[in-house]
Amino acid sequence: MLKERLFSREVFFEKYKIGFDHDGVIAETRTPVVEEYNKIFGTEHAVNEMREYRTLARWAEEDLGISKEVALKIDNHLWFERPDILLRAKPMPGAVEITKQLADREIFFPIITSRLSSYRQSTFEWYEEKMPWINRNQIIIRENDEIEGEVFKARMIEKRGVNVFFEDAPHHAKIIIRDTNAMVILLNNDPVLDDLAGDRMIRIASNDNQLPNLREAQATLFRG
Ligand SMILES: [Mg+2]
Repeated sequence: MLKERLFSREVFFEKYKIGFDHDGVIAETRTPVVEEYNKIFGTEHAVNEMREYRTLARWAEEDLGISKEVALKIDNHLWFERPDILLRAKPMPGAVEITKQLADREIFFPIITSRLSSYRQSTFEWYEEKMPWINRNQIIIRENDEIEGEVFKARMIEKRGVNVFFEDAPHHAKIIIRDTNAMVILLNNDPVLDDLAGDRMIRIASNDNQLPNLREAQATLFRG
């Protein structure tokens, strides 16, 4: 459906019901997490080295010579038990621009996140502080952790009738493609899903080995 590329922004906004992932799409959460890891362990990892799920666990195993199990605990702690770290995140490049354009046109767009329910309050606070034009009722986050994050995300995409979803994680994109009818705009340099996803996905990659963002996505999708 989207393969023709270079839409007019107006047509795109009118034609598709857009939804966004939060971490790595709207919020640049990797930076404060990597900074905190470096601070705790005295390392100098760069944010761009964090390209896949569980990167922190891999680093911890290598840096500290610890077991995979303990390394995973460190990964879980920094991502899932420290809302204070994620509150320091800045908006991703292009995120303010596109969400404001939608808000100015009074178009409802959900932010659908796989975050744990314990992050509800801090996620609401982040939007109140960083992007106050996004209302609380647009932020879709679990109320309990009975359903797995990526399954919840896919269900909400379906339930809200979203047909274009901006996502950064290939393992989430895979579930969305499997469980919904939505097109995924994947902000990721890794071509791992390209063959499997076919015309259900447009992947936005960054030439300079940086993490792709919504600014690059807009430059790819929209004319002018
Ligand atoms: Mg994400």
